[in-house]
Amino acid sequence: MKKSIIAFPRIGENRELKFALEKYFRKEISEKELQQVAKAIRLTNWQRQKNAGIDFPISNDFSFYDQTLDLSIALNAIPERYNELNLNKLDTLFALARGFQDEAHDVTARPMKKWFNTNYHYLVPEINRETTIKANFSKLIDEYREAKESGIETKPTVIGPYTFLTLAEYLEDTTVETVLSEIINAYQQLLVSLNQENVKWLQIEEPALVLDQSKEEIVLFEKIYQELLKHKNKVKVQLQTYFGDIRDSYTSVCELDFDGIGLDFVEGRETAALIQKYGFPKDKLLFAGVVNGKNIWRNNYQQSLEVLNAIKTEAQIIVNTSCSLQHVPVTTKNEDKLEKNILKHFSFANEKLEEISQLADIYFTGNEQLLHQNEALFNEKRIQENLQLKQAIDHLAEKDFIRQPSLERRRTLQNEALHLPLLPTTTIGSFPQTVEVRRARLNHKKGELSNEAYDTFLEEKIRECIELQEKIGLDVLVHGEFERNDMVEYFGEQLDGYVFTQKAWVQSYGTRCVKPPIVWGDITRPHSMTVRWSTFAQEQTAKPVKGMLTGPVTILNWSFPREDISLRESTLQLALAVQAEVLDLEKAGIKIIQIDEAALREKLPLRKSDWYSEYLDWAIPAFRLVHSKVRPETQIHTHMCYSEFEDIISSIDAMDADVISFEASRSELSIIDALKTHHFQTLVGPGVYDIHSPRVPSTNEIKTQISRILDKLPLEQVWINPDCGLKTRGNEETILSLEHLVEATNLIRSGV
Ligand code: GLN
Ligand code: ZN
Repeated sequence: MKKSIIAFPRIGENRELKFALEKYFRKEISEKELQQVAKAIRLTNWQRQKNAGIDFPISNDFSFYDQTLDLSIALNAIPERYNELNLNKLDTLFALARGFQDEAHDVTARPMKKWFNTNYHYLVPEINRETTIKANFSKLIDEYREAKESGIETKPTVIGPYTFLTLAEYLEDTTVETVLSEIINAYQQLLVSLNQENVKWLQIEEPALVLDQSKEEIVLFEKIYQELLKHKNKVKVQLQTYFGDIRDSYTSVCELDFDGIGLDFVEGRETAALIQKYGFPKDKLLFAGVVNGKNIWRNNYQQSLEVLNAIKTEAQIIVNTSCSLQHVPVTTKNEDKLEKNILKHFSFANEKLEEISQLADIYFTGNEQLLHQNEALFNEKRIQENLQLKQAIDHLAEKDFIRQPSLERRRTLQNEALHLPLLPTTTIGSFPQTVEVRRARLNHKKGELSNEAYDTFLEEKIRECIELQEKIGLDVLVHGEFERNDMVEYFGEQLDGYVFTQKAWVQSYGTRCVKPPIVWGDITRPHSMTVRWSTFAQEQTAKPVKGMLTGPVTILNWSFPREDISLRESTLQLALAVQAEVLDLEKAGIKIIQIDEAALREKLPLRKSDWYSEYLDWAIPAFRLVHSKVRPETQIHTHMCYSEFEDIISSIDAMDADVISFEASRSELSIIDALKTHHFQTLVGPGVYDIHSPRVPSTNEIKTQISRILDKLPLEQVWINPDCGLKTRGNEETILSLEHLVEATNLIRSGV
């Protein structure tokens, strides 16, 4: 064995799975037709892997929705309320994934969470008192057989018990112990079935090993596998880890009876050092993850070769990807709008198969020609470096990251300048992107709507939006963001240094895919990006209108970043571009500017010990750089989507914004306690209602929510707003909800 991957994208080259699923949900196709689409995708994927010489193409990496959900189902961890719907197998899966409603039933979907440090979301397994774990791995077995029937011997993959137990939610005083022995038993049964099928290799994925592990967790991991591996019999078991190194359990992993161990050499900063220090067992195979499964750049063979050559072991090495390829798009082949000279630097899933194959060729047989071709690609001058920008960044001094005067002093000046009432009301930025808005944008993009006509349309929408907000009685208005397709792409398209793909979709969850833009070169801002719309909006009203920008960290986190310069460097480039925009807005008379950092929490390193040194130590200053040069009277707002920042609260305060709004309505306001305990200084707008559902909150409900906030925080510190942008909502529910929000605020203000 020489070549391996961990998993392949399952959405299909042209998002076939997404479209088939959506048709199935709309009842336009039958289950059988859906299954045919799925089967075709699987067969194509296996054939591709086989053609590239991957020794064991991967099976069971296919999923209709999510592989963690598939595992919950395989273990029978299906809460009773879903079984009670009496749906068939597939529709039960979709009920768990998307919720189910008819005249007689109303069951919500299982919650989703971000899969480790990626933009993919998994469905959180639920363990409750009624949970009875039973093995039913028929999906895995069926897919193995399906491949075998088409002449392909695959390596089935499955998420491991330790990761499952780590990610699960435990309800009704259940714990890991409640289900542990049954879970081990279920995996043992899987091994028995695999032996009956004559399966050669099983890959067990345990990404949870790259998290900080306590002593108890390491013991738990050891216990699971000591038991489990007793039953492997003839099946060989590969333990696969990714998204980092496994420093806490490396020695245990080496001692356990695995036949192969998969390690990540891309994100695993200490992987090589661990091998050097503790050695690697010579009787096991080492699956060396050197081809980056998360980014889209070509692999630098020389560098990968150095990594492989530095591994001092007698064990056999297999060239592998660093993680599943589901985090990159399927193929560069369909990108006909990008120049060849650009495209040749990119490698999506298909191209990565070829890279594995070529690297193995170079490593095992010393294919010099392949190595030199690749060297030539990397020796080429890909971009013209912007020396001026580099100097500007090199010369940044501490004072460039510090806004003067102090927050307190600014607050007095801003109060005098803005004359806002107590508990100022506002929204997060976007207003509903109705069919009309999306159609106009599409027609403009296709050239069917002229620039002038499109601009007039946008002005009309802005005028309406301002009028509406005045009528509702909000205090700080927004222009509505009708010109934006997406909060990152919109800026990327106007900045120099970005490139865009046509079909490079990556699954975010279920049927939802995203197409992250690619940072190609040094980022600069050739012209102002938002001033025109913000000033137009401000001209329509005497009330302040917020300028609306996306922050540098979020722009970078939702793009494919460069690998030839650091994330810090790219973020600072973006920060300088956004800073220039902030100053232009200020010059144009905009008094309040919101800089969204929706995705700041998202890329927090998996290990706590890396939080500051690897991330926050530059991410927070990058944000500060953006607003450090504004006048004291200009009020800077920021917005963050996930309120899970209790553990980094002082870093959020250190962003030194004047006001922050965030999602709080679903987190039971627990974060408010944390704000209080940590003496949070920034003014806060904890969202008072959930915009992720079309439900209209009543005035009374919002009033109660505000009162609960005011129980904990002083009146002068609080802003009133929904918990995120209104883009995905309809007009009707939006207007009603905002009317209730203003009404509730007025009642509180007048002490009723
Ligand atoms: N200003 C953006 C909007 O309202 C923020 C979106 C977000 O937080 N995801 O749409
Ligand atoms: Zn948000």
